[in-house]
Amino acid sequence: MVLDKPGQLLQLRDVPKPKPGRGQLLVRVAACAVCRTDLHIVDGELPEPKLPLILGHQIVGRVEEIGLGVNQQSANASPARTNQQFAVGDRVGIPWLGWTDGDCVYCRSNRENLCDHAKFTGYNIDGGYAEYTVADARFCFHLPDSYNDVDASLATDVGVAPLLCAGLIGYRSYRKTGDARRLGIYGFGNAAHLIAQLALHEGRELFVFTRPGDKATQQAAKELGASWAGGSDETPPDKLDAAIIFASVGPLVPAALRALNKGGIVVCGGIHMSDIPAFPYVDLWGERAITSVANLTRRDGEEFLEIAPRVPVQTKIDAFPLEEANTALDKFRGGKLAGAAVLKIS
Ligand SMILES: [Zn+2]
Ligand SMILES: [Zn+2]
Repeated sequence: MVLDKPGQLLQLRDVPKPKPGRGQLLVRVAACAVCRTDLHIVDGELPEPKLPLILGHQIVGRVEEIGLGVNQQSANASPARTNQQFAVGDRVGIPWLGWTDGDCVYCRSNRENLCDHAKFTGYNIDGGYAEYTVADARFCFHLPDSYNDVDASLATDVGVAPLLCAGLIGYRSYRKTGDARRLGIYGFGNAAHLIAQLALHEGRELFVFTRPGDKATQQAAKELGASWAGGSDETPPDKLDAAIIFASVGPLVPAALRALNKGGIVVCGGIHMSDIPAFPYVDLWGERAITSVANLTRRDGEEFLEIAPRVPVQTKIDAFPLEEANTALDKFRGGKLAGAAVLKIS
């Protein structure tokens, strides 16, 4: 499914099967989850995507061919990786971070998520809305074939796919909240649903904010274990130690600040957000902080993929065949999905 130009529908098209270059894996795609970032790219809200582009950066598949140089020690290997060897038939995950230079000031200080020359899957590199894709092996994750049956949903290709962005970026956002005891989450979509399970598992008290009047989502959050769920226009019963904003709505930033205790932090987890309105300095005073989360490091991925089966994190899936990618994007845009949209490809 090819994006020729932002603002247009994806086109179902036969394209040549990619060949793995040096250091790359050819992966037969089994499933690719749909991310809000895909919508931002299609809607022209992110600058200069590769065009034409195959979207998709939450890819699960099997290694079909191994390029030259894979499985050899590399200068840009991640120190966090336990197993960087790949074999044909291995089940792998391909995330948003697709390539870094390994050489800039950020890469050299364990902040490869901020790399000056990073390339991103399904944005600057063709992604997973396709039967095959190639990826730099150093940025692929091993996905075990089984997670000891702790959660059947993670053992399936469609079930594990949303972990690769909603899970990883959510995890990075969550870790930025430190040891906050009372955690607020604004926007209860895929990332929030996954990270809420981890937060509850780690004993955090959870406060969930939805669109005003969205009683169904508030109910779902309470059923998951949130101590309070309400509209983003409501004041929670207790002050929060931290808040994560997953909704791409700028006015939520000052709203979340007002809900914080002294020393609290607001973490913006999205890649795009509408403008943040002005607010009085007194709302920031008291060492409150605002930060964004950009991309992921391979270490985030290793950590989250290790911890998720132990929670165990459960995923809720709305599966679509590849050729219905436009329908999946449309339903995502309209908030009409029951779970994470995943393209089931093979
Ligand atoms: Zn770099
Ligand atoms: Zn994403």
